[in-house]
Amino acid sequence: MTFQYLHKMPTVEEILHDLPLSADLKKIKKKRDEEIRKVFTGNSNKMIMIIGPCSADNEDAVCDYISRLAAVQQLVKDTLLLIPRIYTNKPRTTGEGYKGMAHQPIPGKDPDVIEGLKAIRRMHLRALQESHLPAADEMLYPMNYGYLADVLSYVAVGARSVENQQHRLVCSGLDIPVGMKNPTSGDLDVMLNSVKASQLPHVFVYTDWAVETPGNPLTHAVLRGSYNRYSRHDPNYHYEDLMGLVDMYLKRGLENPAIIVDTNHSNSAKNYKEQPRIAWEVMKSRGYSPLLKKLIKGLMVESYIEEDAQSVTDSVYGKSITDPCLGWKDSERLVMDIAGMV
Ligand code: PEP
Ligand code: MN
Repeated sequence: MTFQYLHKMPTVEEILHDLPLSADLKKIKKKRDEEIRKVFTGNSNKMIMIIGPCSADNEDAVCDYISRLAAVQQLVKDTLLLIPRIYTNKPRTTGEGYKGMAHQPIPGKDPDVIEGLKAIRRMHLRALQESHLPAADEMLYPMNYGYLADVLSYVAVGARSVENQQHRLVCSGLDIPVGMKNPTSGDLDVMLNSVKASQLPHVFVYTDWAVETPGNPLTHAVLRGSYNRYSRHDPNYHYEDLMGLVDMYLKRGLENPAIIVDTNHSNSAKNYKEQPRIAWEVMKSRGYSPLLKKLIKGLMVESYIEEDAQSVTDSVYGKSITDPCLGWKDSERLVMDIAGMV
């Protein structure tokens, strides 16, 4: 191996000791987890909206955004549970570019994974303190989950990780919903295999322990569109796509079958402005079919303060440096509209 060993990483215990979650916030998260769980187990008719920037690149802008979301949550509380996206690890198609705050606490600057680890926990704690909305993050590095396990209410496994055994096994030990995205190829069997694997109990090695997990019955599917063999975006949110997935899903006899539709990525071909139209179409399909109404539990939306995206070296406050996002005004309108369609 030609690794250069830079630093020993702090343990989960050390990080949690220095940046603890208060008893009040623990209680708030527990209550929220119960409400979210009820949506996935079919004991609540509310829908989930996982909404926020593609990457959480700046603590102030992210907390500002999430506080705005908290105000909207109050207005839509009868029909929607908003889960802010605070994505601190970004998978990169070629390995180049911004890898998220966990690697680069200051975008564009050199990586610092120890500072990054502290920065992401600090940001998650502050966002929760200011909004009382526990967040979603992507599980990109399963070994690091412990550093945020007590603050997250939703975990997504991305299109590039969903076939990975380690992700599937670690998710089988989580007690919050895990969304398995369809892979970039669009193969729905891969996604459902991943849901199945995470719902089963496993014994495996985690950090430096042999561990046993009970299986996670809240693991479900997330449709994000795919790339076809000509590398063009191919959406999978239309009525026929949804009905086809329901058919495959129900044949498998999985627990708590549930679908979340991601309105950006290959579903919008990253035309972020299409997200409201896509969300409305999904809601219409959901209204048309009782089966879809039962299985479609939510939407995932990429949204930030400023619309579109900028390069890492630009510094517009609240504007994405990864995927283009819907701006705040359009996002607020979208949440209000969807709340009226549930
Ligand atoms: C994302 O949610 O920003 C993301 C990277 O999604 P996907 O894994 O679907 O590309
Ligand atoms: Mn994205």
